[in-house]
Amino acid sequence: MPETRDLIILGSGAAGLTAAIYAARAELHPLVLDGVQPGGQLTTTTEVENYPGFREAIMGPALMAEMRAQAERFGTEFLYAPAERVNLRARPFEIHAGGEVLLTRALIIATGASAKLLGIPSEAKLLGHGVSACATCDGFFFKGKRLIVVGGGDTAMEEATFLTKFASSVVIVHRRDTLRASKIMQERARANPKISFVWNSDVVEVLDTDGRVTGVNLKNVKTGALSTVEIDGVFIGIGHQPNTKIFEGQLPLDLAGYIVTQHGTMTEIPGVFAAGDVQDRIYRQAVTAAGSGCMAALDAERYLEGLKHAPGPNTAVMRLEELKAPSA
Ligand code: NDP
Repeated sequence: MPETRDLIILGSGAAGLTAAIYAARAELHPLVLDGVQPGGQLTTTTEVENYPGFREAIMGPALMAEMRAQAERFGTEFLYAPAERVNLRARPFEIHAGGEVLLTRALIIATGASAKLLGIPSEAKLLGHGVSACATCDGFFFKGKRLIVVGGGDTAMEEATFLTKFASSVVIVHRRDTLRASKIMQERARANPKISFVWNSDVVEVLDTDGRVTGVNLKNVKTGALSTVEIDGVFIGIGHQPNTKIFEGQLPLDLAGYIVTQHGTMTEIPGVFAAGDVQDRIYRQAVTAAGSGCMAALDAERYLEGLKHAPGPNTAVMRLEELKAPSA
C-alpha cells in the first residue's frame, strides 16, 4: 500500500502554489502535482502589473518561479505528473498519476483553466503551425508577419499588443462591435498603430498552403457576407475553460464546467477543496486565485485537524457547520 499523505494539491498555478506555501508552513507536507502546464496560466503572460507587492511590473513566469521557490523553501514536494483519474468516493482519496496511485486524506483542486479554441477543423489541423492560443509562447516565431487575433476581451487585447513587438500588423477580429476588454487594455490596443479591428465577424476557416497559414475566411455575422484576409498566423484569445474533465461525475460542476464551491473553497465532498480558476468564473485574477489557494489550505488544515479529533471511523468527515463557523 502506498503511504497516505495528509494533502495533495493538483495544479501549480497561483492557487496551487499559494495553497502549498500555506500548507507547507502548517507542516502538512503537501505534494503538488504539476499538471500539464507547470506554473499555470501566468507562465504564458508577459508583464503582470496588478499583482500587489510589485511597484514595477513583474513577468508572469518570474512571478511563478518565485512562488514555486517559496513553496519549496517550506518543504513542498513536486511531482511532474498530471492527475489522470481520481476516486473521490474512496477514503483516503485516490489520485492516479504517472502510473501510480497516490493516497491522500485531503485534496485541493487547483487545476485552473485552459485557453478556449474556436472549434473549427482547420484550426485544429493548424494548431502549432500558424494557429496558436498563446502569444507569449509563439509570438517570437512571427517576426515581420501579418497576424490576426480573435476575441474582444483582455486576453485578445493583451495578445494583440504583445504581438506587435514581432508582427508587421495585427488585426483584431471580434464577433461584436463592442469590446469586452477593460478600458485601459482597449485604449492601449486602439492607440497602437500596428493594430486594426474587424468588427461583427467570425473566423469560419483558416486557410493554408501545405500546412502553412495563408489567410482566414471571415463571415460578417450581421450581413452574412464572406471575406478573405491574407495573414500568416492566427492567435485565438477568446477566453478559457476550466480543467475539470477528470472530476465529471465525481463533483458537482456548473453549466460551464466550473467546480461548485460553497463557504469559500469547500466542494460537496468533505476533505476536497477547490481553489483558483477551476472554481472561479467571475474574477479569474492572479491575486484572487492566490487568495483562494490560501483559503483552501486553511480549510484543509482545519479539516485535517478535525479528523484527528474524530471519535470514530465514520465520523472522520468534517461537518459543513464546522467550516461555516470555525472557532476563532
Ligand atoms: P473574456 O471572457 O473576458 O473575453 C472573451 C472574448 O472572446 C469576448 O470578447 C468574447 O466575445 C470572445 N469570444 C468568446 N467565445 C468566442 C467564440 N467562440 N468566437 C469568437 N469570439 C469569442 O475572456 P478573457 O480571457 O479575455 O478574460 C478573462 C478574464 O481575465 C477577465 O476578467 C480579464 O479581465 C482577465 N484578464 C486580465 C488580463 C490583465 O489584466 N493583464 C489579461 C487577460 C485576461 P463576446 O464579447 O461577444 O462575448
